[in-house]
Amino acid sequence: MIGAAIGSFLNVVIYRMPRLLSLGDPKHSFCPNCKHRLGMADLVPLFSWLTSGGKCRHCGEKVPSRYFWVELITGGLWAGIWYRYFCADWTGSEWMLGIFFMLATAALVAIIFIDGEHFIIPDEINGFLLFLGFAYAVYSHDWKTFAFGYLMGWGLLFLISFLGRIGFGKDAMGDGDVKMMRGIGSLLGPSLVVFDLMVAVVTGLVFTLIFMGIQSYRDKKNGVTPEEEPDQEPTPIKDVFILGVTYFFCFDIIALWWPGIYEKLGYPMDDVSVEDDTWVPEATALPFGPYLAIGAIVCMLLRTELTHYANTVLQALSGS
Ligand SMILES: [Zn+2]
Repeated sequence: MIGAAIGSFLNVVIYRMPRLLSLGDPKHSFCPNCKHRLGMADLVPLFSWLTSGGKCRHCGEKVPSRYFWVELITGGLWAGIWYRYFCADWTGSEWMLGIFFMLATAALVAIIFIDGEHFIIPDEINGFLLFLGFAYAVYSHDWKTFAFGYLMGWGLLFLISFLGRIGFGKDAMGDGDVKMMRGIGSLLGPSLVVFDLMVAVVTGLVFTLIFMGIQSYRDKKNGVTPEEEPDQEPTPIKDVFILGVTYFFCFDIIALWWPGIYEKLGYPMDDVSVEDDTWVPEATALPFGPYLAIGAIVCMLLRTELTHYANTVLQALSGS
């Protein structure tokens, strides 16, 4: 139930953040259509959406089912982590990690829905993930996991984006993915980052094939031939490299307090609300962030098994 209530807050984050609206102003929730202030009956997680029939009680406009799903998914994931860290695998020592994983899961659910729809991952959320990794290291004194995970998360994704840009002449990875895995790695540690990436590639591939299948079926049914799109100008290689390095040094998080820092480096940041943004992704473009987020959630739920497996593989590799 607490997870579902957090999901209710995430719906606010998912709606407001890409539109550059303040999370705290207005403090009350409102209908995006008629701006009517929502009352108590509209704010009960899960039940409000169900009992209102998915419509605004005031103007009758349809409320996207996303509001319901985000609450249900967040509630379900919190229950799952609760089960693993507080019931099934209770060791008396890792419950704090369970709490950190719950908070990280909430951030990842927001990332799945924001990146899936708008192709962006807000810097605030990536900063929050890194904050969680850092705070847990302070609590556990396990700075090795933090440092190697940070390095692995940032390094792997930076390498993919840099080599992909050189090899294919296209932007292989969004900047947000590099920043996100830096934070996820710092909390999960290096070996789980590798599992995360594997899960992301497999689920990404499966869903991409499904989406492409649906698209080509629709095109055939409607008798449209998919348009050849002009290739978009990829980011210059030098910029991919320099920006990637700035993410290692957390310039993107510093920029949350000092927005001018990228301007000083010669990279003015164009903070623009998705509603004013004219950029349209290529039809073939798919965000990778949601799959990385799904992979991270899988790693949190199956941490015991995956860590055991990773140790077995490492021992076999080192020949002992
Ligand atoms: Zn309304």
